[in-house]
Amino acid sequence: MELFEKDKIYSFLLENSHKSESGCRLWDGSRIWNNRSKRYTYGQLHVGYRMYMVHRLMAHCKLEFDLGSKLQVCHSCDVENCIEETHLFIGSGKDNMRDAANKGRIRNGYSSVTHCKSGHPLSGDNLYTTPSGYRDCKTCRRDAYTRYKAKKNGK
Ligand SMILES: [Zn+2]
Ligand SMILES: [Zn+2]
Repeated sequence: MELFEKDKIYSFLLENSHKSESGCRLWDGSRIWNNRSKRYTYGQLHVGYRMYMVHRLMAHCKLEFDLGSKLQVCHSCDVENCIEETHLFIGSGKDNMRDAANKGRIRNGYSSVTHCKSGHPLSGDNLYTTPSGYRDCKTCRRDAYTRYKAKKNGK
């Protein structure tokens, strides 16, 4: 197969994947081993003389994605080996960060965080913004201060 043979690649991708109950199309072929997290992540496929991630190939076939591009192909479903074209979107590195933040993977300092660790709302009277722009919970700050004072007086 060559990269310009999009129809061939597309049908190959379909033949080597299956639909899951959640609507994802999961890749059945080989996957990339992530040594750091000790698990398989993205699906991979040889095209021509190179190895490509299959969700990027799908975006190449269906979303006019340029495989040489530095842009990321992201999953709206968050399933790494999903190649369902409607679950894929092309984003910049920044989009990927924002996406992760929205999904709550990155906490603190992001405006998408609506509650503190203890579940107090990070809004209105309870919202404290530090000089560095970090959003913090007033109730928790007060509690921490009270504990600190009590400890100090206890000695
Ligand atoms: Zn999916
Ligand atoms: Zn709190």
